[in-house]
Amino acid sequence: MAQILQPTPENLDRLTTALADGEIAAVPTETVYGLAGNALDPQAIARIYEAKGRPARNPLIVHIEDLGQLEQIAQPSELANRLADAFWPGPLTLILPKRPSVSDSVTASLDTVAVRMPAHPIYRQLAERCPFPIAAPSANPFGYVSPTKAEHVKEQMEDKIDWILDGGPCERGIESTILSLADPQQPTLLRHGSISSEQLEDVLGLKIHTPDTRAADKGQNLPSPGLMKRHYSPNTPVNLFEGQAPESSSSSAIVFINSASCSKPNHFALSEDGELEEVARKLYDLLQELDHQSFEGIYMELPKDIGTGTAIRDRMHRAAAR
Ligand code: AMP
Ligand code: MG
Repeated sequence: MAQILQPTPENLDRLTTALADGEIAAVPTETVYGLAGNALDPQAIARIYEAKGRPARNPLIVHIEDLGQLEQIAQPSELANRLADAFWPGPLTLILPKRPSVSDSVTASLDTVAVRMPAHPIYRQLAERCPFPIAAPSANPFGYVSPTKAEHVKEQMEDKIDWILDGGPCERGIESTILSLADPQQPTLLRHGSISSEQLEDVLGLKIHTPDTRAADKGQNLPSPGLMKRHYSPNTPVNLFEGQAPESSSSSAIVFINSASCSKPNHFALSEDGELEEVARKLYDLLQELDHQSFEGIYMELPKDIGTGTAIRDRMHRAAAR
């Protein structure tokens, strides 16, 4: 039965010992809560997949504490170092050629590994105590909305895990941007996040390739194994709109970007005044809250397709996919 732990030094020590012993625990990061285990322990990795019900073909992100750990698990490159300098610690995941220390179960037998250095201060206090890199996918059952509060993890994973480290609400609220440097000639964006492709291009001085993720709809091979059309989805059906809100009865929830548009009890807002960072922070929280009410459907307004808005639109489209 999952227990929420406050981030006291004693609890951090206790979790460090548990992780070193091959156990798993939900931990806060600035993106979403992760389900953490020792990345170098195949038994811990197996526990993560089992608790999430995640298919073995969907590889995990390995979280590092410093650049020494990067060397341990991946082959860095000039481009990787430049991006690490600019964006780490932070919500950017890099796909790099892997070292043999990383087992096939982490990478779904790919010859690359996904690496990120999280910025969350409580996560870092835990990572500093752990002498190993930490594998951590989002701490939700496979396909469901990602958790952005300790309480979300408890609701979703109650009987699957023992410990949840409470680090408060996640500051970013959506998953990291993923950039593949597997082919250094062609940096490729695999997942939109709060670090935009323009920001990455500015640092690299190179054009970034963005694959057609709609390949998933056509049943073709995906550029990244986890980029499924349907993901981050509540049980209540989600429909999207732009411009005019749909005519609907009070049995459906209508979610606006901006609170000024709300006028009825079944109206909800993702932000006070449309600030996209706030929308990202609130998105999964509101989706989970509405999923617990007895609405027949959820209508969501799409934000503008700029900056973080691009990543929010991506998550909304996947939440709405059937
Ligand atoms: P999550 O941990 O739930 O945020 O999902 C992590 C995502 O990272 C996966 O679904 C994959 O799409 C992606 N990923 C992890 N490792 C690799 C890799 N070696 N190559 C490409 N994509 C990867
Ligand atoms: Mg996930």
